[in-house]
Amino acid sequence: MCAESSRSTVARAAVAILIAVSTTDRTREITAQAAQAGGALLVDVRSDEERKVAHIPGSLHVPMSQVEARLPELVPDRTQPIVTYCAVGARSFRILPTIDALGYQDSVSMAGGIRAWQELGYSVESDSVLDAEKRERYSRHLLIPEVGEEGQGRLLETSMLLIGAGGLGSPSALYLAAAGVGRIGIVDDDVVDSSNLQRQVLHSTTGLGERKARSAKKALEDLNPDVEVVTYEERLTSENVDRILSEGWDLIVDGADNFPTRYLLNDASIWHDIPVVHGSIFRFEGQVTVFKPHEGPCYRCLFPQPPPPELAPSCAEGGVLGVLPGVIGSLQANEALKLALGIGEPAIGRLLLFDALAARLDEVKIPRDPSCPVCGDDPTITEYVDYVEFCQGR
Ligand SMILES: [Zn+2]
Repeated sequence: MCAESSRSTVARAAVAILIAVSTTDRTREITAQAAQAGGALLVDVRSDEERKVAHIPGSLHVPMSQVEARLPELVPDRTQPIVTYCAVGARSFRILPTIDALGYQDSVSMAGGIRAWQELGYSVESDSVLDAEKRERYSRHLLIPEVGEEGQGRLLETSMLLIGAGGLGSPSALYLAAAGVGRIGIVDDDVVDSSNLQRQVLHSTTGLGERKARSAKKALEDLNPDVEVVTYEERLTSENVDRILSEGWDLIVDGADNFPTRYLLNDASIWHDIPVVHGSIFRFEGQVTVFKPHEGPCYRCLFPQPPPPELAPSCAEGGVLGVLPGVIGSLQANEALKLALGIGEPAIGRLLLFDALAARLDEVKIPRDPSCPVCGDDPTITEYVDYVEFCQGR
């Protein structure tokens, strides 16, 4: 998909052309040693992203596309000696005719670019929040303008709480950790059972009998040591929910498999003002939506009452195709990353319905209910109720 081979062919052809051009006039090039020794003004013509990673101290930054418009204003003295540089010396050479045309009398390009400068051990400065290892690990994110260095930095500072390390929690946890979400909390009191392994890809046969939260922590930290994993080996209850939710979570990924937990989490997330990326699955069908307190509906707006137990069996009772939580949990991770990055259109007020057998994704608009007992204009429920009883009372 990345078509790396065809791209590198194009890149090689481009390099060949550049070399042909750059060999035409060596007198317009100086070595990095000469540039370092001389008193000329160094002008960095690379992009903002490249400059952030490393640049020569004291150099002026004018990206290549802005030289014509900005250089005269930044360097009014046309007799000022200028040494342009880029990554390897190609672009900085190519820009010289443009600088000549602006009336500058003494401009040359630094051969070998900042790479040659660094190879000589000369100092550089960096504005990058990511070290070389992180730049490599997240390089495919850095290439996307909507993420980039800033977005990746934001992800590394984001905290997400996962309710459940089961079918839905497995793929979301893996993708969120891989993406570099800096802090991931996992609430799960269950232990890994062999019947889980058909879909809960976070765990493995060697982890049978282990607490899921602990097994998950091991897998996630092994995948990405940048991630801090906080475990809660307990079931979410009215007694512990305030303590757990008040530990600085930016958003919650709900992979709960039962109604009492969903309603409890809903009420708590509204009172703590934390968005919830909700997912649920049954056999061949799954649902995803985002509940953002007061900006869209909540779980109670959508389902004021839990369905009768016989109409809503859990996976343990009703079964599920193993790959389905993989699809739904990944969609949840997608929504979680979008919310953290502030990009795209989060599924707020939209319920996405996935039908694995038909291979179809439908969407239903879900409005906020102004008379919702929890998030409505005049709430009637303002403290935790007995959620087990509420759900059994159906
Ligand atoms: Zn509501």
